[in-house]
Amino acid sequence: MDTLSPRLRSALDEIRAAGLYKSEREILGRQGPQVQTRRGDALNFCANNYLGLAGDPRPAQAAKEALDRWGFGLSSVRFICGTQDQHRAFENEIAAFLGTEDAILFSSCFDANGGVFDALFGPGDAIISDELNHASLIDGIRLCKATRYRYRNADMDDLRAQLLGARNDGADQIVIVTDGVFSMDGSYAPLPEICDLAEEFHALVLVDDSHATGFVGDGGKGTPEFFGVADRVDILTGTLGKALGGASGGYVAGPQAVIDMLRQKARPYLFSNTLAPAVVAGSREALRIAAAADAERAHLREVSALFRQLMAQAGFTVLPGSHPIHAVMFPGDDGARVAAEIAERMLDYGVYVVAFSFPVVPRQKARIRVQLSAAHSREDVVACVDAFIRARAEVVAPAEGTH
Ligand SMILES: *Cc1c(COP(=O)(O)O)cnc(C)c1O
Repeated sequence: MDTLSPRLRSALDEIRAAGLYKSEREILGRQGPQVQTRRGDALNFCANNYLGLAGDPRPAQAAKEALDRWGFGLSSVRFICGTQDQHRAFENEIAAFLGTEDAILFSSCFDANGGVFDALFGPGDAIISDELNHASLIDGIRLCKATRYRYRNADMDDLRAQLLGARNDGADQIVIVTDGVFSMDGSYAPLPEICDLAEEFHALVLVDDSHATGFVGDGGKGTPEFFGVADRVDILTGTLGKALGGASGGYVAGPQAVIDMLRQKARPYLFSNTLAPAVVAGSREALRIAAAADAERAHLREVSALFRQLMAQAGFTVLPGSHPIHAVMFPGDDGARVAAEIAERMLDYGVYVVAFSFPVVPRQKARIRVQLSAAHSREDVVACVDAFIRARAEVVAPAEGTH
């Protein structure tokens, strides 16, 4: 007897009543700077498609050819009969790109983060994690028996305090864990300071660079390269689901012994199917393109700077920074409603953006997150800012003007 559904229905009603119900907007074609929705065509400013490769014909063509050559699936985990030579070749290419000894593929970065901690650390070890780290890091750390410590976002005094705490508690191996880029703010983790502290306390550094690999730093090598500390970050995790083609898959890159141990013990690697052949081939092509995409990276920096400049001129508050994630802030009690209404109206003007409010971001810190792509033109950016201005005039100005 289904005694569960009534309880779920009332819980769902509560989610709706709180305005937190997530509904999915269907895209009627391929991903790109312009997408087709049921409400018409829209400029898309909410994809993690930083280099524009998700809808690019080249990875798609490589995947098509791979279907013929490698088949649709492998029906196996890696260690039984799910490793094609292209899987190993791709792992070597990822390691070469990032400058690590080796790398290992997972079905997603969520799985990479879910498996990496339990396989490498155990009771007696300490994991010190930034409070704003991605959910997959939080879950992965929970699955591990090491002692957990948490520090305030990018707060180096608090990180030092937690490191001292771990040392005083007699920790064996300590690892500091951080996102390279915090996705709700578009801010960077202060990696040079983190690496200094790691050195002082003989700790490892693990960076999840999902929002950076392919487009941040020299050659797109990510936040460690951006900060000049690539040789001081021990372990990297990342996704193929954002800049690197945007299909699916993730990886861990690092020292040989780390990768060897993950192949032996990482549970999402051992007990979940291998990455599909076409995804491997398409993602390899995406990485090849990304490695040579200096012009696209320069263009991405340029349109990002243009967006910030035009939004500042129009009187919007955008969190400072240089990353192509831009948090347009709508503070105060009414911020969540204002942000949601502006985002909704912007679609009428052909611009697709998404508003975020509590509990995804802190109370009073509602925002519309705008993500730029190398596939956006300067005209696209101008159109986006115009839509912000027009929507704000409808949502905010009438009320404010009368007070
Ligand atoms: C997107 C993201 C992930 C999840 O990546 P998937 O490959 O989609 O599972 C993990 N960590 C961070 C920091 C991310 O931004």
